[in-house]
Amino acid sequence: MEKLNLDDYIRKVPDFPKKGVLFYDITSILAQPRAFRYCIDSMVELYQDRKIDAIAAIEARGFLFAAPFAAHVGIPLLLIRKKGKLPGKVMTKKYSLEYAEAEIEIHCDDVVQGSRVLLLDDLIATGGTLNAARELLTACGAQVPEIFGVVGLPFLNYEKVLNPTPVRTLINYH
Ligand code: AMP
Repeated sequence: MEKLNLDDYIRKVPDFPKKGVLFYDITSILAQPRAFRYCIDSMVELYQDRKIDAIAAIEARGFLFAAPFAAHVGIPLLLIRKKGKLPGKVMTKKYSLEYAEAEIEIHCDDVVQGSRVLLLDDLIATGGTLNAARELLTACGAQVPEIFGVVGLPFLNYEKVLNPTPVRTLINYH
């Protein structure tokens, strides 16, 4: 696999979406096929021996990394979406954000009982969204043995929130 410094391919946008936030933008990875391929190849390498039965990803940027991985490895892709977007019978999970509440949903019927589901998002900040997604998956009968983010912000203490599930990332910012 080609080695590259992923940091070179991540656009940093200060004060987005609000003042004081440094936004790590992965659209610049998608726009550069070498970097995008590096991410997918790295995921394949990380998880090929970990007996993963399916991958679940969080709307919307998580989908972009999970879809090529699922197609390449040949496993089911489960979409976790914001409330009201999935047309079938859903299981819903409400959770708290910094100043508000949010709800995410999944088509529970697509989750195989007892299956080992890798949970993914593009970036892990507080881990709040992934924590809610993990609860959703386990409520549907799956196991979540691993969580993956392309980018991690460990200073926001997501490892504590996501404990005891192991969390892997391709790059961390401090
Ligand atoms: P959290 O639930 O706090 O881990 O937030 C996760 C979601 O917010 C992820 O889907 C990220 O895409 C997005 N996010 C939070 N902080 C940032 C940031 N500094 N740069 C880019 N995306 C972010």
